[in-house]
Amino acid sequence: MRANRRLAIQALAGALAVPVLALAGARTAAAQTSNPAFDRSRLDRLVAAYPDHLAAIEGDTLVWRDGSRMPTGAGQPERSFDAMLKAATIADQLRQRYEPGPPAGPPSRDHSPGRIRNTPFFIAMYGDCRRGAVSPRLRPVTWMPRTAPQPLPVTTVNDIATRMERVIAALEGLPDRFKAYLVPSGGTYNCRTVADTGLLSMHSWGAAIDVAVARSDYWSWARRRGDIPYRNRIPFEIAEPFEAEGFIWGGKWYHYDTMHFEYRPELFA
Ligand SMILES: [Zn+2]
Repeated sequence: MRANRRLAIQALAGALAVPVLALAGARTAAAQTSNPAFDRSRLDRLVAAYPDHLAAIEGDTLVWRDGSRMPTGAGQPERSFDAMLKAATIADQLRQRYEPGPPAGPPSRDHSPGRIRNTPFFIAMYGDCRRGAVSPRLRPVTWMPRTAPQPLPVTTVNDIATRMERVIAALEGLPDRFKAYLVPSGGTYNCRTVADTGLLSMHSWGAAIDVAVARSDYWSWARRRGDIPYRNRIPFEIAEPFEAEGFIWGGKWYHYDTMHFEYRPELFA
């Protein structure tokens, strides 16, 4: 397709005696019109969200506190959701913002803030579980100690284990009718990949938790052809204490995963 199009442009340029580069430039300008420039304040938000690890943004480069550097990809145009899901830049994972608070309605098509992840970024922050680098940073947290105690390993990176304990304290304070959505937990740390992308899950860094599976819904369980019909039975009261500690809820994703919470403070609107 691309080769054919280049040939067609060259033929057209020859016919009109217009330099090929000028046409290519016009095409880039058109692409930028349909893909608005990346909002660079989101990179500043990223640095502010992970003060233990990130130092600065220099041009199109993310500088880590240990001196390592990563390209952000902020200068590249936005691609389709599926393309970004499979191979995200650091900028791509910030393009969709997470709206805290009670949901106004079902998520719009492909709006799944948090599902797009740049794997090297998270490995640099939490370690690579396939090399045994995550386990030493986990510590057990007791899930719902007054309802149905369950020890779960959670990463200590970014104080996530301590944040989780504050979430648990708030959840224990909810009326009893909410507890059935919480126990038993579907788990935290698990060195595994996401089924549809083959990429490491946030569970593989010990930075995510699934609440009770029995009351949950997952997009690919229900998928027919075409659009994904939204489904959720988890009340927002469950999500609220998580959001207060910087965790996003998979119940707000077009590709919903209503049992799932993960620590992503950089995404909050
Ligand atoms: Zn999960």
